[in-house]
Amino acid sequence: KMPVPSDIEISRSCIPKPIDQVAKEAGLLPDEVELYGQTKAKVQLSALRRLQDQPNGKYVVVTGITPTPLGEGKSTTTIGLVQALGAHLHQNVFACVRQPSQGPTFGIKGGAAGGGYSQVIPMEEFNLHLTGDIHAITAANNLVAAAVDARIFHELTQTDQALYNRLVPPVNGVRKFSDIQIRRLQKLGINKTDPAALTKEEINVFVRLDIDPATITWQRVLDTNDRFLRRITIGQSPTEKGFSRTAQFDITVASEIMAVLALADGLDDMRMRLGRMVVASSKKGEPVTADDLGVTGALAVLMKDAVKPNLMQTLEGTPVFVHAGPFANIAHGNSSVLADKIALKLVGKDGFVVTEAGFGADIGMEKFFNIKCRYSGLQPHVVVLVATVRALKMHGGGPAVAAGVPLPKEYTEENLQLLTKGCSNLSKQIQNARMFGVPVVVAVNAFKTDTKAELALVVQLAKTAGAFDAVECTHWAEGGKGAVALAQAVQRASQAPSNFKFLYNVELPVTDKIRLIAQQIYGASDIELFPEAQEKVTLYTKQGFGNLPICMAKTHLSLSHDPEQKGAPTGFILPIRDVRASVGAGFLYPLVGTMSTMPGLPTRPCFFDIDLDPVSGEVNGLF
Ligand code: ADP
Repeated sequence: KMPVPSDIEISRSCIPKPIDQVAKEAGLLPDEVELYGQTKAKVQLSALRRLQDQPNGKYVVVTGITPTPLGEGKSTTTIGLVQALGAHLHQNVFACVRQPSQGPTFGIKGGAAGGGYSQVIPMEEFNLHLTGDIHAITAANNLVAAAVDARIFHELTQTDQALYNRLVPPVNGVRKFSDIQIRRLQKLGINKTDPAALTKEEINVFVRLDIDPATITWQRVLDTNDRFLRRITIGQSPTEKGFSRTAQFDITVASEIMAVLALADGLDDMRMRLGRMVVASSKKGEPVTADDLGVTGALAVLMKDAVKPNLMQTLEGTPVFVHAGPFANIAHGNSSVLADKIALKLVGKDGFVVTEAGFGADIGMEKFFNIKCRYSGLQPHVVVLVATVRALKMHGGGPAVAAGVPLPKEYTEENLQLLTKGCSNLSKQIQNARMFGVPVVVAVNAFKTDTKAELALVVQLAKTAGAFDAVECTHWAEGGKGAVALAQAVQRASQAPSNFKFLYNVELPVTDKIRLIAQQIYGASDIELFPEAQEKVTLYTKQGFGNLPICMAKTHLSLSHDPEQKGAPTGFILPIRDVRASVGAGFLYPLVGTMSTMPGLPTRPCFFDIDLDPVSGEVNGLF
């Protein structure tokens, strides 16, 4: 057999169909499609309105066991599965995947378009700017950040009356409130529309957001791995009169606006969520929102194109939506609700939409169900749980695995003992999926060093552990053909009864919800709230955010909080160091351990290998 070429070589060797043809085949009308060149298009939300009375297709979520740092092939399996369903079994299909951040593309991990013969193409378009959604999020996020600091500065340097005169300037000699100002007045309980009618006290509460700088949670963002922005000092020019403070940059995909985009149900819903985003507390302890800053309309304008899903295709010509890519730790790590909804209508009753949830099933899948499905109202039919022999051997006690280092021999030679032991993780993740009442199909993603006996053992143990079915697949090396058996198992599972239910009721107290996830999904015996976390739980409950779903920020490398603990640990106490809120997106996120929201570059970043061919203009070196 020929060795499998590099991802970019495979991607480039395939001539994509014109994207308007892909759109037409998918059932979109020409006026619903906005072309961005030959291989990418945006799909207007009017498509969803046109199809609102159509029945939905089958909704399949791809998740995985607890991975090694190399990734076990969830994206690759998502693409392989739709290629099998669409190009080989001739079903209507759509894959819905996240847009990757440029940070990892140039940093450690490389691209995220799948791999081998199961990819979204052209992979360089997918991995780089796409249609600019992440840039739009960066712009919107940083407008909010600028608004926060400028507002504090202006409030500190001006009297109430001077602020009022500037906030409500005379137009042709008459002062008039803008719409967003009228909304703020209503929120403050001031039902006046004539700016001349406000009392001194009313002017005071209207002009002063009175942001407590110590409570600012809104950070600036950039889509680059730049570790030197993890802590910065802003406001050092003399023009800011000494109002400097420490702040930080996060990577753009960690922005709450990315999570808002992923969870929004439409333009109006996105606008409302953007307006509700909390940036800080006032000195009185009340939440200060984007609406209070008057920035909501501008944010909606910046995000008006980003809200439309991006259409691309797989190597085998089936349609793909690439839309939103929220961080899987401090956010929920799932692609957009809108893309899934449009895709479910387009494939029709008998079709399949395969969507991917980031990280392992304990994180991405749990959030897919408890956050994404809760907001979308969509009912999942099948869970596909990706497992690899290599990750299971690691769970069985195999040595550490790292990028750029050759795999130790435990991973390249048959070792049924390590594998059997490591299946504890597979079993736990199967149980986790079954807890939500949805049938689970295990996809054993085969690597070339896996032996027949090893692959058969995983299949057998998965079935014993309660999987609806378990199938070996070779879509990385063979494309859709290698996932036909998986696709057939998914078809059968989609006919099985699914009794989908959430793990918790959102009305439970915050700590009860956290404890439920820790005990049921992770295997913890209890949780321990640090004082800071306890204070935040009290604050958010008081501010009225206690009924939001929970988005755990935990390592993906273990079911526990400790990345070193492999397999299926039990009996541990899960430490909750802090709790934060993404009120606009709509969740509270407890921090289990310290989370980096700005990755750094390694000594030898991926960009060493990336270059442009000066003659053909082709991108080289992406993987
Ligand atoms: P995840 O989505 O779970 O992080 P990916 O699908 O991105 O994982 O796969 C991680 C990496 O492993 C990619 O570079 C991909 O090409 C590669 N890969 C996935 N499956 C296989 C396989 N069966 N054999 C060899 N490489 C694989």
